[in-house]
This record gives sequence, structure tokens and C-alpha cells, in this order.
Amino acid sequence: MKVHSSFETLYTSSEISEQVSRVAFEITRDYEDRCPLLIGVLKGSFVFMADLIRLLNIPLEVDFVKVESYGSSTISSGVVNFIQGLSSSIEGKEVIVVEDIVDTGLTVNHLLSSIRDMGAASIRLCVMFEKQLKRGFLVPIDYLGMTVPDKFVVGYGLDYKGQYRGLSNLQILELH
Ligand code: 5GP
Ligand code: MG
Repeated sequence: MKVHSSFETLYTSSEISEQVSRVAFEITRDYEDRCPLLIGVLKGSFVFMADLIRLLNIPLEVDFVKVESYGSSTISSGVVNFIQGLSSSIEGKEVIVVEDIVDTGLTVNHLLSSIRDMGAASIRLCVMFEKQLKRGFLVPIDYLGMTVPDKFVVGYGLDYKGQYRGLSNLQILELH
């Protein structure tokens, strides 16, 4: 059976970059002279991370973790797998976790507790997109880009089956 899909632009690239600039301003203000370690959650966060760090006016370090919860589905599997860990110790570091999107909160919830166990001095959460209707874990987001409706979105780093990460707009993907 052929799968038909349609796209609808939710946010344009200029609407997105306006909010990334605001988030960068907030982090710059809060972390003046503190050299935070930004930990990006792969793969989805790499576009947001690249834009964000170039707007931060502070010394900083960057690392990535690879986490998988969805596989190739559009619905959360409820299981979080850590596929690739951090490249160096985070003990005593001021960590900012950078995530593309929070849906149920399961992924970041797991990640934040693991990072807490690794001895970070402080941990904050920076999320580009938050789904409005949350069904699971309450996660305190310190820096938020934009909220999105409870639909599956692609673009700005977010994929469907590995595709569409390079779209500069955020699109709602409907499969029928
Ligand atoms: P959660 O664990 O909060 O339910 O889901 C978080 C992860 O699922 C995100 O890091 C992201 O990789 C993926 N995800 C959640 N919602 C969407 C969505 O609308 N589009 C895409 N492409 N990925 C999503
Ligand atoms: Mg993700």
C-alpha cells in the first residue's frame, strides 16, 4: 500500500531564528563567565545546537549523547535506549541539556537523572519545541523555544524515518 503524506508549515525559519535568538540571550545573561557544557541529544538537536552556540556570547563546551526512544515510528515506544555516551567526564560541570523536542518527557526525564548521577555541578534543560499536550512526565524546562500542537513535526533537525532534518521550516507531517 502506498503511504501518502502532506506537509503544512507550522513555523517559518525566521520565526524559529527569532526564538533561538531570545533563548541565546537568556542563556548568555544567566551564564556570564561560567563556561557551561552544552550536551546535545542526537540526532535531532544538532541543528538547534549549531544555531544556538553561535549566538551565545560566553565561553562554552559542547558534547553529545545519542538517545533513541521512537525507532522509526511516530509514536513513542516508551523505552529509552542510550546508544552513545559522553566523550568526557561531566563531574563538576555546569550542564545545559539541549533537546530538539519534548513530547511525553520520557527521554529527557531519563537523561536528566543519568546526568545528575554523573556528578554535574548544575543541570538545566533547554528545549527548542515542546508539545502542548503532555501525557507523561513533568519536566521543568528552563529555556524553551516554541510550543507545538500535539502533531508529528519534522524539519529544523527533526526527522521522519531519517528524512527531512534539513528543512529550515518546521512542518506538520500528516500520514494517510
Ligand atoms: P519523548 O520521550 O518526550 O516522548 O520524546 C522525545 C523524543 O521523541 C524527541 O527527542 C524526538 O527525538 C522524538 N519526537 C517527539 N515528538 C516528535 C515529533 O513530533 N517529531 C519528531 N520528528 N520527533 C519527535
Ligand atoms: Mg530527540
